[in-house]
Amino acid sequence: MGKKDLLTAVRERVLVCEGAMGSMLARKGARVRNTAEANLTHPAVVGEVHREYQEAGAEVFQTNTFSANLPMLERAGLAERAAELQAEAVRILRQAVGEEGYVGLNLGPTGELLAPLGELSVDQAIGVYRQQIGAMLPLGVDFILGETFEALEEAEAAVRAAKELAPDLPLAITLSFSLSNGRTSMGVSGRMAAERLIGLGVDIIGANCGSPEGLLRAFGEMAAVAGDRVLLAQPNAGVPVLRGEETVFDGTPGWSGETAARLIELGARIVGGCCGTTPDHIRQIARAARASA
Ligand SMILES: [Zn+2]
Repeated sequence: MGKKDLLTAVRERVLVCEGAMGSMLARKGARVRNTAEANLTHPAVVGEVHREYQEAGAEVFQTNTFSANLPMLERAGLAERAAELQAEAVRILRQAVGEEGYVGLNLGPTGELLAPLGELSVDQAIGVYRQQIGAMLPLGVDFILGETFEALEEAEAAVRAAKELAPDLPLAITLSFSLSNGRTSMGVSGRMAAERLIGLGVDIIGANCGSPEGLLRAFGEMAAVAGDRVLLAQPNAGVPVLRGEETVFDGTPGWSGETAARLIELGARIVGGCCGTTPDHIRQIARAARASA
């Protein structure tokens, strides 16, 4: 009984992570100011999305807290309910996927530029992540995942808070390479990101969201210098296109499966999906993961 530690399991086989949450909530009619608000207003729907991804083959999951840090919640007028909706996200996810699922405490960007470009100091950013991790950790998670960072300083703030509060939990950090040349909007390359994150002692490094072309380039650079670190990739389902008044992603489930196969070839040990992915996309990614075994 009892599942293996995440870092042991990924050495044995490629694990599949779940896909997008926000677009799935919208599709199921959950209208919210901030995706994390759904943890309070539509908990059953959030759980249902996690479970659909599990049925599609995902074993690694992320709490619905990408936008649940204080600066993001303040913008949505939800700051006073922060601890409550953060904790609720862990409870919903664990209940949905059971003990066998790997529950990741998800941290996203603050949406602010760090000093000297913006107002938020590095210490304040560390405090933001300390608050979120502190509220969620007591409910029991298997690892911490900070994702979609474009600035290394902000990723580092998340790492410092995680190392301080949960030094023994596996820690994953992924950046979003938004530009097709393989850089984040802040000019960070895959190589720069990998070297910095490895220096900080991050166990699992990788890329998510952004431009699929940029992600593949940056991911290749990361893989070249990753050494013994585990690589994780969660691309969007292609690129966003406007269809009528709706923004949709142009990548089919089959395309996501093929992209996952390429990423696994480059060294990815955890593959999943970001914006625009659905359980159908995850099913094809899971097929690619099985084929690699
Ligand atoms: Zn995304």
